[in-house]
Amino acid sequence: MSEAFDVVVVGFGLAGAVAALEAARAGARTLVLDAAPADQVGGNSLVAGQGVFGSTDHNGLARYLAALRIRVADRYSWAGHAMAVVPYLTSLGIPMAPGKAGGDFVEAPGSEALRRWRLADVREGPIVRRVQKLAVASGVRVRCDARAIGLGHTDRSRFCVAYAQRGRRVTVDARHAVVLATGGQAARRRRASSGTPFALGDALKLARQVGARTFPAGCAGPFYGFRVPGTRSALTPRHLYGLSTPEPRSGVLVSRTDARRLRIPPPHLHGLTKGRSARYVTAQLPPALLVVDDEALGGGPLVEPWPDGHAEGWARRYGEAWSHTNDVEIGRGWVRGLGRESRRRLNLSARGELFALPLEPVVLNTLGGLRCDAAYRVLSGTGAIEGLYAVGEVSSVFGRLYQGSGNLTECVLAGRIAVDSALHGKDPRRS
Ligand SMILES: Cc1cc2nc3c(=O)[nH]c(=O)nc-3n(C[C@H](O)[C@H](O)[C@H](O)COP(=O)(O)OP(=O)(O)OC[C@H]3O[C@@H](n4cnc5c(N)ncnc54)[C@H](O)[C@@H]3O)c2cc1C
Repeated sequence: MSEAFDVVVVGFGLAGAVAALEAARAGARTLVLDAAPADQVGGNSLVAGQGVFGSTDHNGLARYLAALRIRVADRYSWAGHAMAVVPYLTSLGIPMAPGKAGGDFVEAPGSEALRRWRLADVREGPIVRRVQKLAVASGVRVRCDARAIGLGHTDRSRFCVAYAQRGRRVTVDARHAVVLATGGQAARRRRASSGTPFALGDALKLARQVGARTFPAGCAGPFYGFRVPGTRSALTPRHLYGLSTPEPRSGVLVSRTDARRLRIPPPHLHGLTKGRSARYVTAQLPPALLVVDDEALGGGPLVEPWPDGHAEGWARRYGEAWSHTNDVEIGRGWVRGLGRESRRRLNLSARGELFALPLEPVVLNTLGGLRCDAAYRVLSGTGAIEGLYAVGEVSSVFGRLYQGSGNLTECVLAGRIAVDSALHGKDPRRS
């Protein structure tokens, strides 16, 4: 006979961690399955900038969501839940500090109602790690290296989840709910070949097995960036824009597939209104080599953080990965071989020794894929699928209209709403 739990959560990123914590607090016997090894469990929530948006202006926030035509059944109610996220995190002992005011889509009415919040003491680790700890302390069982591979019914509204662990296939039953929280969409095969380490999510595949409706492929909003192989941090194209302009630079991005200078495609504007930071690259990027001279590495925004402490300054993090002797060669000898001719071809102004860093493309964010009702129950063609919930990036309401800091907010609010709905009127302590 299969082991039975009240709630089975698939994925232990922020959305899954909040759902698991809330389920355990409500007395539900809760199991979390996560595909990653123990030290990497937490998906994109681990590498996120830890920005969370909040508001104290309910009407303003609801107006903003309406202007963006955010797809939620009741925007006013959703706005109320979003406003509760920062106080909720604070109540968990996770201190948040106020940051920049205003939404990404500055021309949208209500934009001024938003405020970004940031984790106040980043040294204690990302938000997700803390929620995971609280969940475990509340009695949640976690199985790592356990990839959910199948979803089926045991009866009309009860599910069983099959997972693979150490080459074995194991099945568990969920008495009240399965919460899918696997992060970004499973990559389409063509994309997977170029590496999508942060978009591990299998929720679409699982939910389709029980009749869920999914977004048409182009509807969610993936955008692309890079990471240094072997690391988990991602670089957004924004970090590299300066290097992709046509005039001579002391650094260039070189495509590792054909050794040409790589220009990052122009940022694409998502949405209906113009915003300052709502531009993202949605074209797929090839594997690249970042080549810079010692001047570029010696200072400037690649190395030193901007005065406001924002994301630049990332190059210092990869001290070990830079090829200082030019002989690591990361690829095909291009760095050593960058003679005068190649430098001219690449429009590289640098003289003297060059340094190189390999970058591989990653999908940063896929924003949606599963359609859900207001309680985050997954929708089939005929209505909500009883007992099946999807939370976090995979059920994001933002789609193409990416609102910075919106995802972590969604993870928290959806995790809470889903579990509240799943256990509503049920007393798991008696099941
Ligand atoms: C560099 C970067 C910076 C970002 N900064 C911000 C920010 O500041 N603010 C913001 O709001 N958003 C930010 N985002 C987006 C945000 O991080 C994600 O949208 C959010 O963390 C997704 O959380 P999640 O819980 O849905 O999924 P994830 O955190 O990705 O967790 C998914 C988990 O599911 C597991 N999993 C996947 N498939 C399976 C399976 N089949 N079986 C079992 N487990 C599975 C994975 O191992 C993983 O642990 C950023 C993203 C990136 C890449």
